[in-house]
Amino acid sequence: MGDGGQSVWATAGHATVKIDIATIKHPHQRYATWADWEFIGGPDNIRIRISDVGNWRYELLAAIHELLEATLCYHHGVSQERVDEYDFVYEQRRMAGEHRAQCGCIITDDPGSDVHSPYRAQHHYAESVEYGFAKLLGVDPKEYDAAFIALDGGAAGNRK
Ligand SMILES: [Zn+2]
Ligand SMILES: [Zn+2]
Repeated sequence: MGDGGQSVWATAGHATVKIDIATIKHPHQRYATWADWEFIGGPDNIRIRISDVGNWRYELLAAIHELLEATLCYHHGVSQERVDEYDFVYEQRRMAGEHRAQCGCIITDDPGSDVHSPYRAQHHYAESVEYGFAKLLGVDPKEYDAAFIALDGGAAGNRK
């Protein structure tokens, strides 16, 4: 186990673990994404921001994906810096109308699945839970994806 399995309560010197999940207006995201996670100092303080699409099931599903992915990235030593660097550049290129990502691959709606994505394994695990969970909520995966992809007029159809 990465941290010896100790509680962040015991090791981080904080009284609480904070998991801050909120929807925000899409243009207020840190970069051109519709779902974002960020560790503020360590695993005891996670901030997740989902673009508002007016559907609580969709927004919670996206938040669950982000929380699972962030947790696995921390556990596997995939740093915030590596994930941010990859995603920021990828999305900058998409918004600039480029067809290829910085790694040379075709830009798709699913940057986490690019073979060069530093969080590919974590993204795939998060998706497996997310789409399994979607069934339990009666959510059609295609409609769910489409609701977020429609943001920004369909230009920034992606999330980490
Ligand atoms: Zn690539
Ligand atoms: Zn992901």
